[in-house]
Amino acid sequence: MQRILPFKEEHRLFKDAFAKFVAGKLVPHYQEWEDQGIVPREVFTGMGDYGFLCPWAEEKYGGVGADFLYSVIVAEELAGQGVRGVFSWLHSDIVAPYIDSFGTEEQKARWLPGCVSGEKILAVAMTEPGAGSDLAAMRTRAVRDGEDYVINGSKTFISNGILADLVIVAAKTDPTSGPKGVSLFVVERGTPGFGRGRRIEKVGLHAQDTAELFFEDCRVPAANLLGGEGKGFQCLMKKLQQERLMVSLVAQASAERCLKLTIDYVKDRKIFGKPLAAFQNTQFTLAEVASEIQVGRSFLDTLVLRHMEGADVVKEVSMAKYWVCEMESRAASRCLQLFGGYGYCKEYEISRLWTDARVQTIYAGTSEVMKLIISRGLEL
Ligand SMILES: Cc1cc2nc3c(=O)[nH]c(=O)nc-3n(C[C@H](O)[C@H](O)[C@H](O)COP(=O)(O)OP(=O)(O)OC[C@H]3O[C@@H](n4cnc5c(N)ncnc54)[C@H](O)[C@@H]3O)c2cc1C
Repeated sequence: MQRILPFKEEHRLFKDAFAKFVAGKLVPHYQEWEDQGIVPREVFTGMGDYGFLCPWAEEKYGGVGADFLYSVIVAEELAGQGVRGVFSWLHSDIVAPYIDSFGTEEQKARWLPGCVSGEKILAVAMTEPGAGSDLAAMRTRAVRDGEDYVINGSKTFISNGILADLVIVAAKTDPTSGPKGVSLFVVERGTPGFGRGRRIEKVGLHAQDTAELFFEDCRVPAANLLGGEGKGFQCLMKKLQQERLMVSLVAQASAERCLKLTIDYVKDRKIFGKPLAAFQNTQFTLAEVASEIQVGRSFLDTLVLRHMEGADVVKEVSMAKYWVCEMESRAASRCLQLFGGYGYCKEYEISRLWTDARVQTIYAGTSEVMKLIISRGLEL
């Protein structure tokens, strides 16, 4: 598909190297990780060894100061080869940027090298049992006590929740101040009072470990406060644009994979004495899916360019998060239909693409929440 993004020779070399890594080191083991409900830690350190984690980080922290196109390549390649449950893109392009943007020099020097090498796996914990879309309703509390903060509360649905070594936790430091009373803390593996619950059994995205986290009198040094007391909500809002762009990029690449697998299948499958591809219904269905995919691609590439220019495209990215993720679900479902009964069998990857797609309209802000944001800009 024609791209408008300014990929240069170095991007192409990086893409080739990463594509080989994914095909050789991830794809052959992916079903095993789906069955186990988690990927091994070595996936992260392996990616770190080759420079595939946080390539944007400054050299002094182990990165190469790469532009955002490298992050686009990683996310698209993982989804494009059907191993999207490897949440390195969450680690590199959603969570680590909090440390990079809001951390002090001391915090960056302490944590970023481990993020780049993969020795420190990251997660971000905002959602609570009673606070999902309505984040301001969070009840997790952090109370200052001398040189520490004491955190009490719980989080749920946390991606990389079992693997994570550093979790950025949102907690209320001043429950009377609404969003201005929220702060972010980096909670490290092994901190007394920090516990992990069960790995949550999901309908899809099995290789991605999703967990509940508990904080019981969890004492975190004040040096682990990120971005300043009461600044948590502001920090979260500043990073939503990239977070939702990343989710949309994964959705887009996954929709493209659905189409590719289905085109291969319908050419091969014969019914009523001819290939399934020869039926007009098949052709029209795939023409519609392909058209939606092309629209998504054009829109997303434009947003990637605007994001790289530093533009505020929160509203447009919300449109992409809403539309591209819904489009992915539609594409996965329609493509699965063309596989007939085989599409409903685990042996066929399209079944996984369909179940994996379902969550895309829910996490990182539901489609309904995206519509709220978009409609706010319509001056209704
Ligand atoms: C696999 C997975 C991974 C996740 N990873 C993370 C993670 O790493 N970190 C993290 O913090 N969270 C994570 N989440 C949580 C995710 O972001 C939340 O599930 C999501 O924000 C929705 O919150 P909720 O589940 O509480 O649903 P609710 O907020 O209870 O929403 C229920 C329904 O109400 C609708 N709704 C909500 N508000 C409105 C409104 N104002 N108007 C109309 N309709 C509305 C919603 O769209 C939805 O349809 C993950 C979730 C899943 C399933």
